[in-house]
Amino acid sequence: MNVEHDVLLSRFTTVGIGGPATAFARPTTLAEAEEAVRWGTERGLSVVPIGLGSNLLASDAGIDALVIRLAGNLAQARVEGETLSAGGGAPNAVCLHRARAAGLGGFEFACAIPGTAGGGVRMNAGAYGSDWAAVLVRARVVDAQGTGWLTRDELALAYRQSSLGPGQIVAEVEFRLAARPEDEIRRRVAELQALRKAAQPTNKRTFGSVFKNPDHELGAGKMLDQCGLKGHRVGDALISPRHANFIENAGRARAADALALMAEARRRALERFGVELEREVELLGGLELPPLGGLLPSSSPSSR
Ligand SMILES: Cc1cc2nc3c(=O)[nH]c(=O)nc-3n(C[C@H](O)[C@H](O)[C@H](O)COP(=O)(O)OP(=O)(O)OC[C@H]3O[C@@H](n4cnc5c(N)ncnc54)[C@H](O)[C@@H]3O)c2cc1C
Repeated sequence: MNVEHDVLLSRFTTVGIGGPATAFARPTTLAEAEEAVRWGTERGLSVVPIGLGSNLLASDAGIDALVIRLAGNLAQARVEGETLSAGGGAPNAVCLHRARAAGLGGFEFACAIPGTAGGGVRMNAGAYGSDWAAVLVRARVVDAQGTGWLTRDELALAYRQSSLGPGQIVAEVEFRLAARPEDEIRRRVAELQALRKAAQPTNKRTFGSVFKNPDHELGAGKMLDQCGLKGHRVGDALISPRHANFIENAGRARAADALALMAEARRRALERFGVELEREVELLGGLELPPLGGLLPSSSPSSR
C-alpha cells in the first residue's frame, strides 16, 4: 500500500485551509482500505477518513494521523434495479449522474451538496426536505475491529449526525431510489441549483454551513445576519456577504481566522438571541472552539 507523507490538507478541503497530514493513503479497493486501517492502527495513528473535504476545517499545523481518502473503485457508483451502490468516496455528482442515467429519482436533493456518499452518511447530509436517511439502506463500514454492514437504523441518522465514530470508514453505501423520468430529474436538479445559487456563495471557497440550524424560529444564517455579521472579517476569513452561515476564504485564510469568526458569531448569537449555536463543520487536528464564556471582545464589521 502506498502511503504518502506530509500531504497538505489545504489541497483536499473546499475551503483551501489545512496543514500537512503525517500519513495519507488513497485505497482503491475494500482490501486496500482494510490494509490502510491496519497500517495506521499498528503504528498508533488515528485514522481519519475524508471525502471531498466539503465540511472540514483542518489545523494549519496539520494533523498527526493517517488520513484516508477513498479512490478508484471506492469512488465509483453503479445501479442495479432500484439500488444505487456507491463507493464511500463517490462524489454526490457521480451518484446523481448514475441515478439519472438509469431513470432513478430520489437523489436530486444532493445536487447542491459537494461531498461524497461516505461523507454524507457520517453527516447525514441533507437539503430541500430530504437527506441520506431518506434514501440510505445500509453502509459497509471498515474500522480497526473489522468490516461489516450497518443498517440505516444502526447508523442512527439524525439532523447532521450519525452513530459513526472516529476511525470508522464508510467504504460502500447502498441507496434505494425510485423510477423517475430522466427529464423530470433534470428539471428538478436545475430548479434546486438555481435556488442554491440565489441564496448561497456557490462560487467561493467555503466549508458549507458553519452552524447547525438551532431550535428557533430563525435559522443560523438569518440569526447571524441580524447580528450584523455579514462581511465581518478576521484575516482572510470572511463571513459571507451573501449568507451569514458561510465563511469564505478570501485569500490566505488560516484556520485560526475562521475559528475566531465562529467564536464571535457564537458570542453574538448568545448575546442577542440567547441561543448557543452548535457547529456543523467538522474540526481536524486538535482545533477547538473556545468556550462561550471566554470569547473575544466584539469587533467592528470588516475589521482585519
Ligand atoms: C458550498 C457547500 C454547500 C453545502 N451544502 C450542504 C447542504 O445543503 N447540506 C448538507 O448537509 N451539507 C452541505 N455541505 C457540507 C458538506 O458538503 C456535507 O457535509 C458533505 O456530506 C460532506 O461530505 P464530504 O465527503 O466532503 O466529507 P468531508 O467534509 O471530507 O468530511 C466530513 C466528515 O465526514 C467524515 N467522512 C468523510 N468521508 C467519510 C467516509 N468515507 N467514511 C466515514 N466518514 C467520512 C469525515 O471524517 C468528517 O468527519 C455543503 C458544503 C459546501 C462547501
